Order: sequence, then structure tokens, then C-alpha cells
Amino acid sequence: MTRDSSREPLADYHRKRDFATTPEPSGETAQADSAAQRSFVVQRHRARNLHYDLRFEIGGVLVSWAVPKGPTLDPSVRRMAVHVEDHPMEYADFEGVIPQGEYGGGDVIVWDRGTWEPHGTDDPAAAVAHGELHADLHGEKLRGRVVLVRTDSAGDGGDGRKDQWLLMHKHDQDAVDGWDPEDHPRSVLSGRTNDEVKVDPARRWHSELPAAEASEAVRTETRGVGDEELGALADLGRQGTWEVFGRRLKVTNLDKVLFPPRAGEDPVTKRDFLRYVAQVAPISVPYLEGRALNLNRFPDGAGGKSFWHKEVPDHAPGWLPRWTNPLADDGETQTYLVADEPAALLWAANFGALEWHPWTSRTAEPERPTYALFDLDPGDDTSWEEVLTLARLHRTAFEKLGVRAQPKVTGRRGIQIWVPIRAGLAFDETRAWVEQVSRTVGAVVPELVSWKWQKRDRKGRARLDYTQNAINKTLVAPYSTRPAAGAPVSMPIGWHELDDPDLRPDRWTIRTAPQRIAERGDLFTGVLVQDQELPPFA
Ligand code: MN
Repeated sequence: MTRDSSREPLADYHRKRDFATTPEPSGETAQADSAAQRSFVVQRHRARNLHYDLRFEIGGVLVSWAVPKGPTLDPSVRRMAVHVEDHPMEYADFEGVIPQGEYGGGDVIVWDRGTWEPHGTDDPAAAVAHGELHADLHGEKLRGRVVLVRTDSAGDGGDGRKDQWLLMHKHDQDAVDGWDPEDHPRSVLSGRTNDEVKVDPARRWHSELPAAEASEAVRTETRGVGDEELGALADLGRQGTWEVFGRRLKVTNLDKVLFPPRAGEDPVTKRDFLRYVAQVAPISVPYLEGRALNLNRFPDGAGGKSFWHKEVPDHAPGWLPRWTNPLADDGETQTYLVADEPAALLWAANFGALEWHPWTSRTAEPERPTYALFDLDPGDDTSWEEVLTLARLHRTAFEKLGVRAQPKVTGRRGIQIWVPIRAGLAFDETRAWVEQVSRTVGAVVPELVSWKWQKRDRKGRARLDYTQNAINKTLVAPYSTRPAAGAPVSMPIGWHELDDPDLRPDRWTIRTAPQRIAERGDLFTGVLVQDQELPPFA
């Protein structure tokens, strides 16, 4: 006897879960079929083993198969698929984390979704019961006709044994030879990968609430500075002592203009700047802590002279976290600021540090980078559209290589991409890898790229700068300001935003960045998961 989902469709689902602790939806109600617009969803689920859950709306529930290698458009491939218990409709949009130790514990993204129609039957539940379902898919990734055929009707009969099926794609106009789901790893809901969702889940599920109310957005604003602290800054005169993040900070020249205005805006004062730094310091610290910080100081504001300031001065407060570099020679910087807490970044801001450049390595292992860095540096004649072309080509390279990489706009004209890695490689190894990837990309569009060292020799073309992968060479931190009119910010973006016609490299300033961060969360957290090995480059 095969499984019969008509009597108690969610019985298995409920039996396997403890709804007091799991964030998954509990699915109290099952709606009647809306046969005209049946939905399907594919969730990429990293539980004990990675698999893709392919779910079809049938009879008001999600009839489901777990596909270890994932669905494909490649018509020559047969995928093993295990028929698993039905899920409630509310589960279709679930993207987040299931607690470890729970059934299915791990992270889940909505990898694809869309509508579908059964082919050759108007009773898909009966087709499933008979062991063969033909379905026409209209998803964002999956399209065309797939066939599911049962190969082993052991059934589960309530004893937990699953029936085995094969999943195939027909030779139709949507078929693509060699198509691999792992080349398309991002959520169609959020643009995020499983790793990004894992370290910063956008949603949690409160299973004690009804399913319709149970999903809570989890965002970073609760970690921010308090209104009282911001009010105290506004109330200070030209200078004073500001109590913020548990420290007493002497702040000076608060009404001095640090950034000239953009057209139609007011100039940005030091008070405005400190307010912004207080707002972003809590989400910036994870990218700075445990790392030496090079400060680009502009004592007379963004239009004035600047210089690199690395040595912590004698007058710095005693609580300021710092690190003395054991590798430093005489005459080199000995002791660096380490922004291990939000107040340390505010201290640097009051000191005129308009740009924050953390080291690529940690102080614990200064010769071992934890990021491989790509700097897409436009030349004088490079258009923004051409920068986007270069960024998209890099995105394709990372997808082919199976490498997780995070883009951000620089706040000036370019885009940077940070690739988190497990510490262990030397800088010359990460530099060589970045050079290889970028030279491969550059060969696709040789008219856009120059490899000349000197800027004047580049004839206005872009540089794919791999040379920043070196000790004590740095790129600007996420959320750091840049020294230009309006105080633009280096802002993390989702890869899908490369296709947003409104994207600009200096789109966000200190006046608009807090709102963006409140709405989208911190899109750069993926770089904090430093578990990747750089794949050999074929
Ligand atoms: Mn699953």
C-alpha cells in the first residue's frame, strides 16, 4: 500500500515535529485547491544532509519530495527523489533557521517558486497515489515539464520508510543541457544564500502563535544606539562629553562642516557624522573587531588634506582597544586601534577618521587573510554600466566556482567583492587566486580592462585590482563614509541589485543609509562565516 495523503494529510508532519520549539509553521488549516493557480516551491534545505525540497500544492497541502542533488533542467539527468510527508501551505514562504536537534534542523531558503499545472490528469492526488506525476512548471529557475515516477513502492505506512521516486525533465524548449542547481544558489525571495540566512536569519517562527501571525521579522535595529543617546548628542553645544555605548567620550567641533552638501541638501556637520557613526557602529563592529584599523583622517573635512593615521596617539583614552604589531620594524606603526566596541569607532570618528579600513587578517594571525578581496576600480572613461558588466561577470565566475562572495558599492565609483575564507592561506596565495579569477573575467571584456600598473597607462580603462591582497593593505569597511559631497557610504548590496536600474555606486549617504539598513538588514553578514576554501582554478 502506498502512502495515502487524503485522510489526514498532515499527520506525518505533525508527528515528526515538536511545535513548542520548532520555527516551522504548524499549518492548522488546509485550504481547498485553487486549481487554476496551483503553486509550487523548492526549498534548499541544509539539514544533516543538503537536499532540495520540491513541493506541489495539491488538495490544500504541499505534497513533497526531498531531492538530494536537486532538480535540474538537464533532460539527460535522473534525480533520486524521496517522497516525504505533506507540508502545510504556510510553509511555502518559510525561509529561516530550524533549531538544531529538531526534525530537519538547519537552514532553509526559498530556492524557487512559481505556479504549475498537472499534465495528462486533472486529479494530481490520484496521479501521485498511482506513482506517476507529470507537471508543467512556471518558476523563476525551473520551467518546462518534469516527471516524477515511483520506482520503489515500499511506502511508509506510518513506519517511517519512504518511497523512492525519480525526477526527470522532459526534452522540451525549457530543457538546458548541463544545468546544475548548485550554480544558482540564491533565494528567489531575498537574494540570499543559505550561509547568509544561517548567520542572520531574516525570519523566525513563533510556533505558539497561529500560523498566520507566527512569522516575525528579525532585524538589526534593536542592537542600535538609543534615542536618549542620540538626543544627548543633539543637545550638546560646540563640544562636550557624550555618554554613549557605556563610555564617556569627549567630542569636539560639533558644528564644523565635514562634508560639503549635495545639491539641494545641507552640508554634513561633525555632529551629523557622529550621529550616523553611532547608528551604524553596532553593525559595523563585527567587520572591525579583532583587526588592526587603518584610519584615513581628514582633520579639515572631506575637502581638505588627508593622511593615514595608524599609531594610537598618547592622548587616547585608556579603555580604547589596541594591538601592538609584533611584526613591526622600527619606524613603522607599532600600536593600532582595534574597534572591538562601538564606542571605539566613535572615538575614531571624533578624531576625524572619515574612512575606516580594517586589515584583511586578524591580529591573532596577521599574515593569514580571512578574505580574498576584489576591487573593481573604474578608470576615467569607465561608465557605471561597464562597472556593472564587470561585477556581473565576477558573479558568474563565483557561481561557477561555487564560491560565496559579497558585493558592496564603494560610495565613490566602484564595486568591491569580499570572499570570506578559512584562515590559513598566505597573502600571496589569495592574491594569486584573485588575480586568476579577475584575469579570466577581464579576458571576456578586454576593451574595458587594463592591467597596467600606472594609472596614466590605463587609457581610461578599469583596473581589476588584486594587489590589495597583502598585509596592511586594506579596502574600506562596509558602512564607512567616503570623503565626498553628501557623505556617501560604502553599502553592501544583494547580487540581484546589480540588475536594479536605480543602483548607483554612491546612491546611499549618511542621511539615507540608516533607513536602507533598517529595511534590508545587514546584507554583508555572509563574509563573517569564514569557512570557505578557495577552489583550485582550472
Ligand atoms: Mn527538508
